[in-house]
Amino acid sequence: MLSARGLRKSFGDTEVLRGIDLTLHRGEVLVLIGPSGSGKTTVLRALNGLETPDAGTITVDGGPELDFAPAERPRPRAQKQQRLALRDRSAMVFQHHNLFPHLTVLQNVIEGPWRVQRQPRAEVVAEALALLDRVGLADKADARPHQLSGGQQQRVGIVRALALKPDLLLFDEPTSALDPELVGEVLLVIKELADEGWTMAVVTHELSFAREVADHVLFLDGGVVVEEGPPAEIFRAPRHERTQRFLTRIL
Ligand code: ADP
Repeated sequence: MLSARGLRKSFGDTEVLRGIDLTLHRGEVLVLIGPSGSGKTTVLRALNGLETPDAGTITVDGGPELDFAPAERPRPRAQKQQRLALRDRSAMVFQHHNLFPHLTVLQNVIEGPWRVQRQPRAEVVAEALALLDRVGLADKADARPHQLSGGQQQRVGIVRALALKPDLLLFDEPTSALDPELVGEVLLVIKELADEGWTMAVVTHELSFAREVADHVLFLDGGVVVEEGPPAEIFRAPRHERTQRFLTRIL
């Protein structure tokens, strides 16, 4: 459903992505692991259109190929359209939930589908309430974010992403800002979504979760995919010395 080829990105003099290839099939969970600074977040942001790569291509669902370094110089407007095309297909859950503090939980969830996507409000509210119920937060619809625990806030963040009905869910270290005892409840929701067949890409340091939920694992280091494969291979028998070193350090 999504394929990226040769993604490159520099910030100033630092080349953060140095030719990333990845393929994501419908219903598949792709997990990105790797040391801090290896480029994982930048990959997700490129897939979501938050970041424009300097080079490479992204194709979604057999649609037109987005070429980020075409022979002819792209106009800013065309670039923006490319990014918006990606943005429409996916929804991102961030490390910090980024909920609007002055809005209630329900208002936070409906903001995107109602105000941005302009769907009818009554429908959006009904769907939002059903989604909140699914993650055990039906009774928090009228609460403000600060009245919730970190794990509850992050579950609202996930519901907010689901409410956009994306084809692709992107998770950027969704539990790394949480107290350890709150991590499990958020991972459980993500696992349930994976079991339901959502297509997702997840950046995480929770390796036992990664092993359980991933269909395919990419290990990034220094802006390249050093090793990839099914979790059983990557975690049990990593071939590359860099992968081995990373896994022994973190496990
Ligand atoms: P990871 O998610 O693997 O920790 P990132 O993709 O967040 O890695 O970052 C890769 C590198 O790019 C880091 O060195 C980071 O400091 C740098 N970087 C990321 N975003 C920016 C930015 N907007 N401006 C400058 N440097 C950035």
